[in-house]
Amino acid sequence: MYRINKRALSVLVLVAIAILGMLFYIGRFLIFGGEWATSRLNPTVQSRGMITDRNGVVLAGVTDGRRTFAEDANVRRATLHAVGDREGNIGTGALRVYAPNMAGYNFLTGLYSRAGTGNTVALSIDSNLNVEAMRALDGRKGTVIVSNYQTGEVLCMVSSPTFDPIHPPHIDTLDDEEGVFLNRAIQAAYTPGSIFKIVTAAAAIETFEDVFWRTFVCTGAIHLGEDTVTCPSVHGEIDIVRGMRVSCNIVFCELALDLGADILSDYTARYDLSGRTRVGGIQTMIGNFDKAEPYTADLAWSGIGQYDNLVNPATMLRFVSAIANDGNAVELQLRKKSTLFSFLSNRSSRLMSAELARDLGDLIEIQNSDNFPGLQIHAKTGTAQVGGDRLPHAWYVGYITNPGHPLAFVVIVENSGTGSSIAAPIANRVLQAAIR
Ligand SMILES: [Zn+2]
Repeated sequence: MYRINKRALSVLVLVAIAILGMLFYIGRFLIFGGEWATSRLNPTVQSRGMITDRNGVVLAGVTDGRRTFAEDANVRRATLHAVGDREGNIGTGALRVYAPNMAGYNFLTGLYSRAGTGNTVALSIDSNLNVEAMRALDGRKGTVIVSNYQTGEVLCMVSSPTFDPIHPPHIDTLDDEEGVFLNRAIQAAYTPGSIFKIVTAAAAIETFEDVFWRTFVCTGAIHLGEDTVTCPSVHGEIDIVRGMRVSCNIVFCELALDLGADILSDYTARYDLSGRTRVGGIQTMIGNFDKAEPYTADLAWSGIGQYDNLVNPATMLRFVSAIANDGNAVELQLRKKSTLFSFLSNRSSRLMSAELARDLGDLIEIQNSDNFPGLQIHAKTGTAQVGGDRLPHAWYVGYITNPGHPLAFVVIVENSGTGSSIAAPIANRVLQAAIR
């Protein structure tokens, strides 16, 4: 009797698992069926359909293979890299990436309907926010990305320089160095500079138990063999908390020298910063971290985001999103999420422990936020030296914890000046527009 009961119970458990599994796959099928059944190489996919922003503003349409764009010229210029251009020179635009979805996949039949005008694909982008970000960049080269760190939806993604897709630049007049067809958010990688101090801090917190009790002495320089690593200020006796706040190079160079290249490289890889990630299924540009020799200036510089370090802006966005989201990184999305099934489509992975995320969040909390009125902001500046007589890249990366606005952001302005003077005001302007 006992044995039969036990068997009956195990059969019931198996049946329950099977039913749950089926329900899970049906849910996934309803959401991802179109992606599963379509291939961008499928010749039967006809180009048609429409792309809107998250509020229904029409960004582009395709009829019989002909592409049309938004009515407002500012919207066209600000959403160009997210949407794509008329000639298809922007490979990562929604017009190309979501062509199968626009063409009209039907989840009941798994087929495309031959009649009709195709589907509307709603992007997660808010076109007003894009316009605001493009105005804030004011013609300078760079990128601004803002995402919801709980759902992964990208709300703002601009790349500058841009152009009006209905008046595209003539190919002969293009300067190769401008990279006007590049979506810098996805397809570029930059020297990170001091924003990388967050990674060095993460490695130090988990490696050295006494890290918050250590004190360093910043005399404005450390000499390593023939080389000298400098700090812009003489900070005197200083700990990691104040070191992050004032962005002291000496604190993080000393930590990098103690950690060594293997641990730093491991942490960079663990957060995918030396690898790549995906934005709406599109692969980002790969980052880089080279291991320098022990106790060298190269190793010290690599701990403060110089040397050969490179990071992609969207991958950096995912990293700061994870700090904001208790250590969980939600995959970045370019399509608006349906609220009904969003829990099924949140593809997240744990990048770090909740405890480490809290420590890092505390380290980069902006205490005196007069420059960010009304924002509860956690962020880090970066002023990445790029050599020669060119101005540094200005970075500002972080997140806000305002109720109802779980937003993470990355701003980079190429060859423009310091992170605090150039990139931070742009972040403030776009975030103010986002919480309005
Ligand atoms: Zn210093």
